[in-house]
Amino acid sequence: MPRRMMIAGNWKMHGQRSDLVFFEQLAPHAATAVAAGVDVLICPPATLLAPVAERCANAAIFVGAQDCHAHSSGAHTGDVSAAMVRDAGAEYVILGHSERRADHGETSTLVRSKAQSALAAGLIPIICVGETREQREAGEAFDIVGAQLSASLPADAAVLVIAYEPVWAIGTGLTASPSDVAQMHAHIRTQLPDPAGTRVIYGGSVKPGNAGELMALDDVDGALVGGASLDVDPFAAIITAAIHGCAVR
Ligand code: PEP
Repeated sequence: MPRRMMIAGNWKMHGQRSDLVFFEQLAPHAATAVAAGVDVLICPPATLLAPVAERCANAAIFVGAQDCHAHSSGAHTGDVSAAMVRDAGAEYVILGHSERRADHGETSTLVRSKAQSALAAGLIPIICVGETREQREAGEAFDIVGAQLSASLPADAAVLVIAYEPVWAIGTGLTASPSDVAQMHAHIRTQLPDPAGTRVIYGGSVKPGNAGELMALDDVDGALVGGASLDVDPFAAIITAAIHGCAVR
């Protein structure tokens, strides 16, 4: 059975209750997508998880968090556990995003602990990996991503999603070339316990203008979208590109 595609929006530190009309506008696009084999996911900030999950309860829109703590509870001021994220109504959680690796010093070992905690709470982890510009220019991209993967993947993950996000392409307007993306996704797949069943999505300045060629690649199962997920029109255009990509797989 072909893998379903996924278009995931990462709202980062954007969004308030006044922005929730977004979901009414997105719902018809998501309904079309789900029928065509493309899942639509929005990862709002933690403050919006519960209201977004309530809005999406009857819509074909999945909800995810942008992080969770590795422990299930305890003295961790300001943190949110996987169980709390699940309790708020989320089904997915982004882990190891390069902004968390850079801003909070998150290591792949910590990402693996968080992924185990997420799985135990019934969440599907979206594990982010990707090389910096310096690492790519030094010819180290495959080794770096391989090392991140082997250290981040939980031992017995039945279901997870991998997001290949070259750090130099996130929020910069630069995108990896389709051939670089295809090669890296094929490389990632060789290291997965379930290569045929695991979704490997691409992130890094995905926009309506480049989504068509990226979503048409065999090994690309969708996109993790930052900036272009904040407005319905560009996000819906990326969803449409994935629907077209899905149809030719
Ligand atoms: C991201 O947030 O993971 C991302 C890829 O952002 P952008 O699409 O803005 O580059």
